[in-house]
Amino acid sequence: MNNIIIGAGVFGLASALSLLEDGQDVTIIDGNHSNIASNNALGRLDPVLKGSGSSGHLDQKNNLKNGPMRPENQQKLALESYLKHKDYYEKLKNLSGIDYFLRDILTIQICFDEQEFSQIANSVSDIKASGFNVKLLEGYEYLSRYQKEVSKDIYGGALISGTLFLNSDLFLSCLKRSIEIKGAVIIDDLAERIDVNQNKIKLKSEKIINYDNLIVCAGPWTKKLVSSIGVDIEMYPAKGEIVKLDPNGFNLNYHIHGVCSVVKKSDGLIWVAATYEEDEFDLNITNKSKKELLNKAASMVPCIKELQVVGQTACVRPATKDGMPIVNEVIKDSRVFVATGGGGWGIMQSFFIGEMVKNMIKIKK
Ligand SMILES: Cc1cc2nc3c(=O)[nH]c(=O)nc-3n(C[C@H](O)[C@H](O)[C@H](O)COP(=O)(O)OP(=O)(O)OC[C@H]3O[C@@H](n4cnc5c(N)ncnc54)[C@H](O)[C@@H]3O)c2cc1C
Repeated sequence: MNNIIIGAGVFGLASALSLLEDGQDVTIIDGNHSNIASNNALGRLDPVLKGSGSSGHLDQKNNLKNGPMRPENQQKLALESYLKHKDYYEKLKNLSGIDYFLRDILTIQICFDEQEFSQIANSVSDIKASGFNVKLLEGYEYLSRYQKEVSKDIYGGALISGTLFLNSDLFLSCLKRSIEIKGAVIIDDLAERIDVNQNKIKLKSEKIINYDNLIVCAGPWTKKLVSSIGVDIEMYPAKGEIVKLDPNGFNLNYHIHGVCSVVKKSDGLIWVAATYEEDEFDLNITNKSKKELLNKAASMVPCIKELQVVGQTACVRPATKDGMPIVNEVIKDSRVFVATGGGGWGIMQSFFIGEMVKNMIKIKK
């Protein structure tokens, strides 16, 4: 079977990996868009808490809505996706020779008032049932024993185990190298038109490619690409920016999470993530976002304001309203499939989605 995948982000590459592991042939076409989400993401894998950069999670004031816990519809997918990362890490690192630094970092979930604190207190048994430890830290005095630089305005929080972080740029390189080793062909070109009647794709270079199965994993560009064959998928772009700071001796030992994420990454920098702007498809960094992120981070850890900004990125998430990915055949028996909609959690979901794609194609076979 001639399996063609459009898009070498994490969804496309993880789908390729699953198909190759199943003994199938894979060719990936990638248009090399700059600043894609897959290699700029924070790289947080968290089956328990939600993120500020996820659809439907923010209220009008950009604060987390309905408490810090992940919505129920996403819990199973999140946990299974998270566990797959643990299975794959050593295997892919050894195969590719590329370490993407999958590391455990304890999270301190920050609560600014009693209501937020009771929401997390009420979730203790659920968190433990998922196999993670949680310790409630009521009051600034208690919490600051863990990270002394936290704001005195904090009501309390919780120390939660299990959050993993990876370097998303290296993760993408590792996936790419791994599928090349397993025999995938990667074509550097842009898919411009799909012909569902003749099972062909026309590329920007004018080349025509035939397919038996076509899997469109073009991230936020997916909607436009499949609209050319009369298919409308319910997804939208959600721009996200991240600011990177020189720690300058500040010893940040935890992932501080609340109105945003503040964490020291494997590159030695403190990352503050992320903004969330629905329906924005531009890749420019802005001063407004920088200010917003620094203010949010400083509300939890005031000394952040004194650190020097050494980097800022902007990219676009392929988002859906319910925060769930879309994996299906877009027209019945057309052999054109999509795998997209990772939103703020596409890195975490990648291996799980890859397996879904493989199963979907196998069923067709
Ligand atoms: C600021 C930010 C922080 C994030 N943090 C996290 C996090 O901590 N944890 C987490 O799990 N997720 C996170 N995410 C989400 C995650 O990055 C995305 O969900 C995921 O990377 C999307 O992957 P994708 O493969 O679907 O799309 P993309 O990464 O957008 O890749 C799409 C690929 O398709 C190619 N393409 C597009 N059109 C064509 C075409 N016509 N022809 C050929 N190729 C084409 C592009 O060049 C690109 O390579 C974050 C996202 C953002 C923006």
